[in-house]
Amino acid sequence: MSDAAVHTSWVVLWGVLGALIGSFANVVVHRWPRGESVVWPRSRCPRCQHVLGPLELVPIVSWLVLRGRCSACGGAISARYPLVEAAMALGFAVIAWSLPVTETGASALPLLTLYAMLLMAALIDLDTYLLPDGLTIPAAFVGVAGAFLYDPRTSLPSPAEALLGAAVGAGVLVLVNRLGGLVLRRLKDTKERLWPISLDTVNAAAFVGVLGGWWAALVAGGAQALASGAARRPLRLPEPLLYALWLIALVLVGSGVGEAWGVSLVDGVAGSVVGAGAFAFLGALWWWLADWRRSDRRSPVEESGPPHDDDGEPVAMGFGDVKLAAPLGAMLGWDGFLVGLLFAVVLGAVVGVAQRLAGGSRFVPFGPFMVVGALAALLVAEPLLAWYLGLLGV
Ligand SMILES: [Zn+2]
Repeated sequence: MSDAAVHTSWVVLWGVLGALIGSFANVVVHRWPRGESVVWPRSRCPRCQHVLGPLELVPIVSWLVLRGRCSACGGAISARYPLVEAAMALGFAVIAWSLPVTETGASALPLLTLYAMLLMAALIDLDTYLLPDGLTIPAAFVGVAGAFLYDPRTSLPSPAEALLGAAVGAGVLVLVNRLGGLVLRRLKDTKERLWPISLDTVNAAAFVGVLGGWWAALVAGGAQALASGAARRPLRLPEPLLYALWLIALVLVGSGVGEAWGVSLVDGVAGSVVGAGAFAFLGALWWWLADWRRSDRRSPVEESGPPHDDDGEPVAMGFGDVKLAAPLGAMLGWDGFLVGLLFAVVLGAVVGVAQRLAGGSRFVPFGPFMVVGALAALLVAEPLLAWYLGLLGV
């Protein structure tokens, strides 16, 4: 077989595998938020409980052959199922085509895994306004660990760039979460009190980061967490005071005062974002593992968006979105993440306005827009295509 034929065979193979994983994804998206097993029992028709046979489980084709109806009761089956299977198949094929195994080795594997996890997370968010920690937090690890597999000739992030991207992603969103929440609460302090690692840790890192850059931010957050653990209560400043000081520090560093000790405005902003993001993710990981250790596990999902959090406080940006930003940042690097976030905001605004004009009132969560924006950034911002064409000498 010629190289082109081998490559085409790989792309088709991954596309077929993608369709099968898409079929499994439909099951996960349906059952995970209900706390049901995703591997057992076999899938049934929701209307007549008829157990689906092997032929009815063939992705896309079975839906087309049966014309979207259950073979037993004739009830309509949502077109969403074959669409998800097709989206998974298409995404897998595009990734396999862009990163041929003969040229870039295992580079495609982490991206295939991330694509499947992120698509499932986005669909669950769309259905339930919840982003499962069991998808977003492991996806961040896949994103960072996967960077070790990327071929250096691709423009995909190095492991260090992936780690930085995860911190920047979580950092940008957690700062929007804190500042937006403060505005919505009319500048009142939050009621949340957690230790050892919490939003107070994030706040400490965010404030010190402005003045001292990101090493200082990491030291400050670590010190806050250790001291809170030792004191068995959160050591904190009220959020209105802390973010007033944060703003003053930002203005001071912006006016060049920080040059006296070698911190520019860029250093300060980067320090604040990276420090806040690092502790937002570590905190998420800590509390996720703590939930796991406890036998009385609650719902395996985290609020992603709508109007109120557990304490009944209004939130501008759900904490689920903060956790989702970590794998997106790891996948794209910090610059690609910001491009994807821009796409997400624009897309979210367009869809929001269109929905208003159409008279709809359903709140659409931000998570799916973040995923779509990130995938667009991956395709557009990454000159993978140009690189691939260059390899072929086109
Ligand atoms: Zn049926």
